[in-house]
Amino acid sequence: MTRQTPDFATRAIHHGYDPQDAGGALTPPVHMTSTFAFDSAEAGGEIFAGEATGHVYSRISNPTTDLLEARIASLEGAEAGLATASGMGAITAVLWTFLSPGDEVIVDETLYGCTFAFMRHGLSRFGVRITHVDMTDPANVEAAIGPETRLVYFETPANPNMRLVDIATVSAIARHHGARTVVDNTYATPVLTRPIELGADIVVHSATKYLGGHGDLVAGVAVGGAEDMAEVRMVGLKDMTGAVMAPLTAMLLLRGLKTLHLRMQRHCASARTVAGVLAAHPAVEAVHYPGLPDAPGHALACRQMSGFGGMIAFELRGGYAAGAAMMNRLRLIARAVSLGDAETLIQHPASMTHSTYTPTERAAHGISEGLIRLSVGLEGVGDIIDDLTQALAPTAKEQAA
Ligand SMILES: *Cc1c(COP(=O)(O)O)cnc(C)c1O
Repeated sequence: MTRQTPDFATRAIHHGYDPQDAGGALTPPVHMTSTFAFDSAEAGGEIFAGEATGHVYSRISNPTTDLLEARIASLEGAEAGLATASGMGAITAVLWTFLSPGDEVIVDETLYGCTFAFMRHGLSRFGVRITHVDMTDPANVEAAIGPETRLVYFETPANPNMRLVDIATVSAIARHHGARTVVDNTYATPVLTRPIELGADIVVHSATKYLGGHGDLVAGVAVGGAEDMAEVRMVGLKDMTGAVMAPLTAMLLLRGLKTLHLRMQRHCASARTVAGVLAAHPAVEAVHYPGLPDAPGHALACRQMSGFGGMIAFELRGGYAAGAAMMNRLRLIARAVSLGDAETLIQHPASMTHSTYTPTERAAHGISEGLIRLSVGLEGVGDIIDDLTQALAPTAKEQAA
């Protein structure tokens, strides 16, 4: 007896591909082609007119990226997907598609640095109003939403300070007012949270991070309803940004997705251990990790996520100076932006990923100057903890002195 829907892990490996369609090749072929030959002049015209389906040009579609799009849509529980050149490519293609001058976007207080810059310093130049509200209380969305609100946009957990937003409640409010909800699911991945199943309309990812998982590519994806994705493809992607994914990148992502569920299990388990060690350390002022029982988002995380993820934010008692000194003492953990790789990565948002905010904006948006972001990798957790502990030790002594 065959089951209706195969497991997540099975779909991550098989969905959308039958080796018999490609001469038996177990691994899908990479279609390295910019353009596609038409059978006849008339056949080409029919595809352009929308009377027949077929590939035309790889800025619109390509068989390798098609497969990736179908697979990520399946994993997110969405009708359709769209592959883009970067996470910012996915975010900007979606926003350019659905916004016009006079429209409003309601966004959470905290956003990834370049998303913040695009909205606050970019879109606002084109007459789009950006309204920040504290979405940790969904009542603030209800209070702010109005007739011009087209989109409600947030990250959960948010980069870098790990705020959580209730996807089901905020999506229901947005829908009631005729606005689409867009969720950046980069931190949680579809292994831990599936926003579409909770009522969101569109999910965007920096596939550079956990989906790729190996630090060897820059890519993005969006998923959502088939009509919405077709519109984003033909407007935001094809004409307004041109930020399409290369077929070779799609192939690397298909490879990354095969182990996503396994990698996330390990990221979650190790991050939980590391968060506990940091929380108990005398040099550490605060740890932001939804898996800690006293974290503000803990109860919501238990409802909305099937694990707490691999990202941690923390602050040392000595602020930025102590943080920089600690980072400089690390031997295994790499001082690098990006996240979700096999390697454990550490960075300082105020001077790096979130330097797109002015200091005043950071203060207003909940990103403290001393905050450190840690992406817990797949190395032995004992080695990660040893490195952090040796790097923190002088800080603890300085505190005692
Ligand atoms: C990295 C990141 C992005 C941007 O993605 P790129 O692939 O770097 O363009 C967007 N959102 C979040 C949450 C990110 O971490």
